[in-house]
Amino acid sequence: MPSAPASEISAARPLTQADLCWLTCPVCRGSLALTPSEPAGTAPQTIACTSCTRTYPVVDNLPILLADRATLPR
Ligand SMILES: [Zn+2]
Repeated sequence: MPSAPASEISAARPLTQADLCWLTCPVCRGSLALTPSEPAGTAPQTIACTSCTRTYPVVDNLPILLADRATLPR
């Protein structure tokens, strides 16, 4: 019998807020919040730090939590 397909952990589903509970901002270690895309349900999404308000991109449903990829809203 072949082993079960490894489809449970894939980048093929949108991120949810639950995915962020174990992630923190790489700059300030603050908690992260998913920013809904407009219109709702469509990619791309971004992730915003609730402490320093930096915004991180999401590429192929993977959060890019790198300080030099963050954008600071003015
Ligand atoms: Zn932060």
